[in-house]
Amino acid sequence: MKIAVFPGSFDPITKGHVDLVNRAIPLFDKIIVAVGVNSQKKYLFSLDQRLEMLEKVFADDDTVHVGQFEGLTVNYCKAEGARYLLRGLRNASDFDYEKTISQLNHIIGDEIETVFLISKPEYSHISSTIVREIIKGKGNIEPFIPEEIQGDVNLI
Ligand code: ADP
Repeated sequence: MKIAVFPGSFDPITKGHVDLVNRAIPLFDKIIVAVGVNSQKKYLFSLDQRLEMLEKVFADDDTVHVGQFEGLTVNYCKAEGARYLLRGLRNASDFDYEKTISQLNHIIGDEIETVFLISKPEYSHISSTIVREIIKGKGNIEPFIPEEIQGDVNLI
């Protein structure tokens, strides 16, 4: 069974993330969208809120599961029986960062393969960082956030 982990902060999940997962569904038998917990990092949404939003967005997709992990992503992959990591590339700076991480994970993760999908042009300007700024500024988040969670995000 081909299992992929899509790791991220998802603070919050955006339309860019959703598009990536949808395009990866035909490639894998199971995709685990996993929230990486980093105790040093400050988040806008709590872990529970982020997990709840992910569950809502992927409720109708049988092959998409939601998870969480602390520590090394490759250890989580091993525990879940996943041999693939899924990541998105929006631009050259994503590439520079992701290249190094992917090479490291290949070594420490016993040849785990990172599969990259290039974001669609209409989503390549979307980042969770920008979305958090729009939420804080009470701007319109509709173009950036999946419909299922637009109400939740506005509660902040
Ligand atoms: P991280 O904190 O690990 O960067 P993110 O939640 O910001 O977590 O992103 C997780 C993954 O989703 C990364 O591989 C990132 O490149 C990808 N991603 C983020 N935004 C988009 C987008 N708009 N289109 C495609 N991929 C994206």
